[in-house]
Amino acid sequence: MNKVSIYNFTYDKLTSFLEQHNINKFVSKQIFDWLYKKQVSSFEEMTNISKKNIELLNNNFIIDDLEEIKKQIDPVDETTKFLFKLSDGNKVESVIMKFDYGYSACVSSQVGCNMGCKFCASGKLKKVRNLEVNEMVLQIVKLNKYLKETKNERLSSFVVMGIGEPFDNYNNLIDFLDIAKDRKAIEIGSRHITVSTSGLVHNIKKWADSQSQVNLAISLHAPNDEVRSQLMPVNNTYNIKQLMEAIDYYHSKNNRRITIEYLLIDGINDKEEHAYELIDLLKNRLCYVNLIPYNSIDESGFKRSKNVKKFFDILNKHNITCTIRQERGKNISAACGQLRAKENSKV
Ligand code: SF4
Repeated sequence: MNKVSIYNFTYDKLTSFLEQHNINKFVSKQIFDWLYKKQVSSFEEMTNISKKNIELLNNNFIIDDLEEIKKQIDPVDETTKFLFKLSDGNKVESVIMKFDYGYSACVSSQVGCNMGCKFCASGKLKKVRNLEVNEMVLQIVKLNKYLKETKNERLSSFVVMGIGEPFDNYNNLIDFLDIAKDRKAIEIGSRHITVSTSGLVHNIKKWADSQSQVNLAISLHAPNDEVRSQLMPVNNTYNIKQLMEAIDYYHSKNNRRITIEYLLIDGINDKEEHAYELIDLLKNRLCYVNLIPYNSIDESGFKRSKNVKKFFDILNKHNITCTIRQERGKNISAACGQLRAKENSKV
């Protein structure tokens, strides 16, 4: 019988498995405690679980791990990038960033990415496959272990903004977030988690229906279809009008503010007229804009904008709440859009 990773199981799914075997649901609480709080690596270490139940667990599950094959620390801001090997040899990257309020992580949701955004190093490799729930959960578990061992700290927040389009791996994402939020498991509150999508409208609506309290970020990066289609092929499937309708739908279900990610690229989307078009798009919507200074990657030919402050000032003057994202991990290619697809090919 094929054994599966126990990290794939939300509390409810584990409980229903145990109930099918006539085991009290209290046992799943104990198992979660051993896995996520005490971080054991074998079922035998779960000393308050009966021998019979340990045998059942051993027959059905494994407690797996991600193999860390590389770690780079930015000497300037301590951003730490990890390269993990998955059980099939594929690789994923995750990043820890240090902020005034604590440590935050950026995790990946797929091996490669099919969205093909022109400015993105992560999307240069086509999607190989979705990450399983356990592979997303284990990124957080590993990063927390590292923080505990080296600094006696833990993650206070994370974003799903690494390699991959999380809404293209929707069902696994939902189970992963369930485990991440669960007080019995990873225990990071919804409001400290952000999921970022390139604009898969059908799943933005599904997400709206779920009324998740997890923060939603949308990569807009352009104020009109002409520029956006040039940067993001997804715009040919879901254009800006459809995206705005999805944002309005979200707000009809949930009055949480959406983050609009806007990467500023020299001469492409950073002109004054673009700022005014963006204001027109967002002025009556509950959104805030995160301006991201572009980090050059060799292949794209795009350059960093010289108009970041000017763009910011125009939005600000017209009452569009916005911030300029603090740059992290520039020296180790861990900044936004710099996670390397080439690292993801099999060894
Ligand atoms: S920016 Fe995100 S969605 Fe676009 S190609 Fe890169 S990883 Fe994929």
